[in-house]
Amino acid sequence: MVKKVSVGVIGVQGAISEHVKSLKKAMKKQGLAGDVFLVKNIAEIERVDAVVIPGGESSTILRVLHEVKADGVLRKKIVEDNLPVMGTCAGCVLLAKKITGEKKDKINSLKAMSMTVERNAFGRQRESFEQDVIIDIFQRPYHAVFIRAPVIRETWDECKPLAKIDDKIVMAQQGKMLALSFHPELTEDIRIHEYFLKQIE
Ligand code: GLN
Repeated sequence: MVKKVSVGVIGVQGAISEHVKSLKKAMKKQGLAGDVFLVKNIAEIERVDAVVIPGGESSTILRVLHEVKADGVLRKKIVEDNLPVMGTCAGCVLLAKKITGEKKDKINSLKAMSMTVERNAFGRQRESFEQDVIIDIFQRPYHAVFIRAPVIRETWDECKPLAKIDDKIVMAQQGKMLALSFHPELTEDIRIHEYFLKQIE
């Protein structure tokens, strides 16, 4: 029987439709049936088998989730129920237990992954850039797009780095949680979305 999955993308603000497109492509490639839909409230969070927190503005995404009281439910599903999650860029910031850098005090993150993330860590000169990165789980380099990207400065316990640019960690995994400082939804390469879908049991 074909496996059926419900995959959500937090649909508050940011690069949302691109994730939906990449997820649909990755599902098709893996022969998974089901749906990909936007998640904006508690009822929708309860329905998902996996969820993406997209790039955008981390403080805005969190504020909107908080307004509908969905932040606590999302955290519980991720931390206690082991819901697979992928946070990209702003989503990476929101998954971190510790945040440093610009306006760090304005963000009360979901505190899910054992890592310190610095916001906008590449500096103003390098607001956005593209670079091939070596990711431990893949054979070939991945062409990554960075936009006002955060950097994972440190990981501990079960949280492990998967990719680095020099000494800067740009991708990490802890169990079924993935954090990326770049935007995999902005390229045609769907290997990361496929890897994410494999976290669903
Ligand atoms: N710097 C932004 C933040 O911390 C993230 C930028 C992005 O998602 N492209 O919210």
